Amino acid sequence: MMLNYDAPLYRPPSEARSLIFQVTLGCSFNECSFCDMYRSKEYSERPWDEVKSEIDMMAKYLPDTRRVFLADGDALNLDSDYMIKIVKYIREKFSKIERISCYAMPMNILKKTSEELKKMNESGLDMFYLGIESGSDIVLKKVTKGAIGKTIIKSVNKAKDAGYIMSCMVILGLGGRKYSKEHIKGTAEVISACSPNYVGALTLYLENGIKQEFLDKYEGEFVRIDDDESLEELQSLIEQIDTKEEIVFRANHGSNAYTIKGTFPQDKQEMLDKIEWMKQHPEIMRPQGLRGF
Ligand code: SF4
Repeated sequence: MMLNYDAPLYRPPSEARSLIFQVTLGCSFNECSFCDMYRSKEYSERPWDEVKSEIDMMAKYLPDTRRVFLADGDALNLDSDYMIKIVKYIREKFSKIERISCYAMPMNILKKTSEELKKMNESGLDMFYLGIESGSDIVLKKVTKGAIGKTIIKSVNKAKDAGYIMSCMVILGLGGRKYSKEHIKGTAEVISACSPNYVGALTLYLENGIKQEFLDKYEGEFVRIDDDESLEELQSLIEQIDTKEEIVFRANHGSNAYTIKGTFPQDKQEMLDKIEWMKQHPEIMRPQGLRGF
C-alpha cells in the first residue's frame, strides 16, 4: 500500500527506508539558488483530516514502522501545537516508532522558543536535517540562502540544547574557485562552533533548469572547481574542523568524486591520511558519468 504522494517527493538518503508523511508541501522559503527541489510547488500545509487519515491508513498496513520522516522541505515551519498533535498521533498509532525526523531551516528553529522546541521533542520529534551549505557569509549571500553563519550556529545549538539530533549538510564547490577558501574556512568555523551530530559533505550539482539563475546571482564570478580542487576543499575542511564533541562525518554522497567517512575528533588524522593517499591514486575517483554531470 502506497500513499498518494504529491510529487516530487524528497527525503535524506538515511531516510530511504522510512515511512514518509507529507505534512507540508514544498518549501516555505524556496529561494536558494542551488536548489530546485520544490520550484514546481507552492508552499502549503496539509490539514489535519488529511494527515490523520493517512496515518490511520498506514498504521493498518505498516504497523511495525520504526522510522517516520515528515516531508516536504521544511515541515518544521508548522505551528508547534500542530506539529505536536501530528507527532503524538504517529507515536500513538505506531507502537514501535524509534525516530521521527524532518527537514528544518535555521529560521524555522529560530522562530520557535526553546520551550516549544523542547515540547515537540518530548512529544516524540527526534531529529532535524538542516542544510548549512556554507559557513561563509559571502557565499551564503551569493546563493541566497537566507541565513548567515551566526544564525546557523545559533539554530543548531538551540535545537541540540532542546534535545534534537542534528544532521547537517555542506556543499563542496559552492563558493566556486573565487570563494573556495572563504567557503571552507567559514564552513569549518560553523561546524566547529555547533558540532552537529552528523555532517554530510556533498558536491555542488546544478540541474539545468536553475544553472543560469545560479550563475546570474553570482554576477559572473562563479567558476566551477574541478575534482582535484574539490578534494583539496574536503581536505582543508577536515583539517580546519576543530571539535571535542563527536561528529559523524560523511562525504560519500553520489555527487562526490572521492568518498570518505569517519568520526571527529578521533578519526580526523586518519581521514587526512586517507586523502593524502587518494591524491596519489586518482584512479579511484568516481567517474563523472556516475555523478550526474
Ligand atoms: S531551504 Fe532547503 S528546500 Fe528550501 S530552497 Fe533552500 S535548500 Fe531548497
